[in-house]
Amino acid sequence: MRKTLIAGNWKMNKSAAEAHEFVAALKEGFPQTEAESLIAPPAIYIESLIKETEGTDIQIGAQNVHFEDEGAFTGEISPAALESLNVPYVIIGHSERRELFGETDEDVRKKAASIFSHNMTPIICCGETLETREAGQEKEWVSGQIRAALEGLTADQVAQAVIAYEPIWAIGTGKTASADDAQEMSAHIRDLVFEIAGKDAADQTRILYGGSVKPANIAELLEKEDVDGALVGGASLDVTSYIALLNGGK
Ligand code: 13P
Repeated sequence: MRKTLIAGNWKMNKSAAEAHEFVAALKEGFPQTEAESLIAPPAIYIESLIKETEGTDIQIGAQNVHFEDEGAFTGEISPAALESLNVPYVIIGHSERRELFGETDEDVRKKAASIFSHNMTPIICCGETLETREAGQEKEWVSGQIRAALEGLTADQVAQAVIAYEPIWAIGTGKTASADDAQEMSAHIRDLVFEIAGKDAADQTRILYGGSVKPANIAELLEKEDVDGALVGGASLDVTSYIALLNGGK
């Protein structure tokens, strides 16, 4: 059984005070839920939010990491540093990182390997542009991204990895892929994981959907066989809405 993961990607939002208020309110209102909770705040808040959530079911992750452990990489975040804070998950390959900051498939592959070598779990993002979907090339596109990211990982690592399918045309646009579209691509990704790493990995790898997920549409997404959770941007910034997401939309 794959455990549902509700991951909030705050992107570049919130002041320190707002971040702390959110976490205090989430601790207070944390629901009875089967779902696993993760918040990925801006990196400067990771350490203090980890301290604040100690002993709770709220996990704090990272939005990005470099693949090298240390060195002259001004402004970058070291995987060894994240490990030293006990960060459980790191998002890599987000379409904003790829489009705005030039992250390549090769970078994503190196980052995934580095994250595993530091005892953390990557959340590997993939997804196509509207143009690619309209050309009917979305499965080939996503397959290419996933093959590149998983190259060189062991079957056990692939089993542990989380993959987030985020069609670029659905991010921050209010346009959600239909639950059927999300299922179709998730099933495709699972078939690909089977081909790359075998049945156990395919059964265990969690596949999240991301792109305008909100309390009103999470239930139908989670009902789908191959959708194991959500990577949520905008709707994870409001604590009431994030709690509703943890509750499956209620
Ligand atoms: P929105 O939920 O704001 O569409 O963002 C999705 C996303 O990019 C999460 O990583």
